[in-house]
This record gives sequence, C-alpha cells and structure tokens, in this order.
Amino acid sequence: MTRIRILIHEFATFYGLKGGHPVLVREHSAMTSYDLDRLLDRSFGSSWLKVGSCNTVLIEGEDRIIVDPGAPEVGLQQVLNERLKELKLTPSDIDLVVNTHLHANHAGSNFLFRGKKLMVHEKELQSSDLLHSWPEFFEACVKTLKIQPISGDTKVSEDVSIVTTPGHTAGSISVVVRTPTGSTVIAGDAVSSADEYRKRKSPGSAEDKQAYLSSLERIRSLNPRTIIPGHDIAFSTSAAILDDL
Ligand SMILES: [Zn+2]
Repeated sequence: MTRIRILIHEFATFYGLKGGHPVLVREHSAMTSYDLDRLLDRSFGSSWLKVGSCNTVLIEGEDRIIVDPGAPEVGLQQVLNERLKELKLTPSDIDLVVNTHLHANHAGSNFLFRGKKLMVHEKELQSSDLLHSWPEFFEACVKTLKIQPISGDTKVSEDVSIVTTPGHTAGSISVVVRTPTGSTVIAGDAVSSADEYRKRKSPGSAEDKQAYLSSLERIRSLNPRTIIPGHDIAFSTSAAILDDL
C-alpha cells in the first residue's frame, strides 16, 4: 500500500527591514500569496526578508519518493535529516526526488539527495529563477542529482504519476498518488492554497494566470480526494465542492 506523509509542513516568517534592522512582520503557517500582499507593511517597501519552506512530502510505496525537499535552510540546518531520522530513514533510503518546480523554497535542499534520481520538467531546467540568480547553487541543487527531465505526463510507478500543471511556472508539475481511499494530488504551487482551489483564483505570483486556472481545472478533473498544496494545509476536496454550492 502506498503511504503519503508530510515530512515538513510549510511555514513562512516575514521580516521587514528598518534601517538595517530586521523587524518581525508576521509569522505564519498556511500562508497564501494573497496574504503576502496584505501583510507586508508598505513602509518596508521591498526591503523584507522571508524565511520559509513549502510542504515536503514523502511517498512510500514501491519506491521512496520525496516531493520538494524544500528551502535551503531545512537542508543546511539539518531539519530534514532529523525528520528523516525520526522515521529511521536517511537520505540514502530515498530512491527518487521530484521537484514540482525549481523555486528555491521547493528545490533548495535537493543537495541532501545528490546522486539520486531527480524528476523535473525540462522547462524548469531552462528557465528557473535559480539558474539565473545563482547558477552555482542551481548546479548544487539540480546538477548533482541524476536528472530525468520530463516533458509531459509521466507514470512513475503503479500508483504514482506526474501530470503537467503549468501556470505558477512554465514547467510546474503535480504528483498524483493512488491510494485505496482515493487519490491525492501533491500540487506544489499549482495549488498554493486551498482558497485558490475552492474559489478558482490565480495568485499574483502565477507567471501565466490563464494557464494557472486551466491547471486548476485539470486537477479538479482528476477527482482527487485530497490535495496537498505548496503553501497551505492539506485539504479534502469534498469541502471544496460544498463551498461551491
Ligand atoms: Zn514557487
């Protein structure tokens, strides 16, 4: 039986910068990009710092798969290693890493799994922000793994498949896991929050809003029972259906 577990739940902490001093704006879990615009005090302008990471998910079935190891801090500060240790695992027990996309808060701790297989959409390999902003770090987080670029929907194993869900970035993908009680979609930022899914909204951070909305519809058409968004708590879709009524 395939088991899905959130290894590290997403979090985000925001600091504004006043005269060089970091001032805590707000700590938040289940952050949405809508909140982001509201909560950052305009007086900070663009001088703010964010410390945060996405939901990091472990799938255990035929293989052990990690989806989105998370921001660099969770790897550098041993948080992810410690979490694996709680489950009596080490990075060497992981067979495959999947990155829903190559933003640093999703892929920044890939380096813990160097030498392992990495599935990522080929478009991310060409257009990742990380590639342009810090090519050496991109090398460490991507090139040190055995890249298996994908260009379309891909079956990973009997119960696990990848579907393309562009919009947040051009190469955003989601992982669909079949379980005896229904399927779960690990959506990365193709669904960054439950609110977007329920209200069919596209966040300000989407590179292509129209593609984002189409991908939301595509995920809905898969009739998932549960969705694990990139930056919100996992939610059941039955509540989402009720909200639509
Ligand atoms: Zn992202």
